[in-house]
Amino acid sequence: MRNRTDPSVDAGGEDAAVECPYCGSTDTEREHPKGPSLCRSMHYCLACEEPFEALAD
Ligand SMILES: [Zn+2]
Repeated sequence: MRNRTDPSVDAGGEDAAVECPYCGSTDTEREHPKGPSLCRSMHYCLACEEPFEALAD
C-alpha cells in the first residue's frame, strides 16, 4: 500500500477543522454519532458552546 502525501487531495480527513455555522470559529470538536445516520456528523463548538451538524462527504 502506497502512502500518498499529495496535500491538494482532500480525502475528508478526520482532523480537518470544521467551521462553526454560528460564530465561524474553527475551535470545534467532533462528537461520536450514536445513531445510524452515518451521512451526518455531529460537532460541538467550543467557542459558543453550541452543537451543530455537518454533512459528511
Ligand atoms: Zn460557535
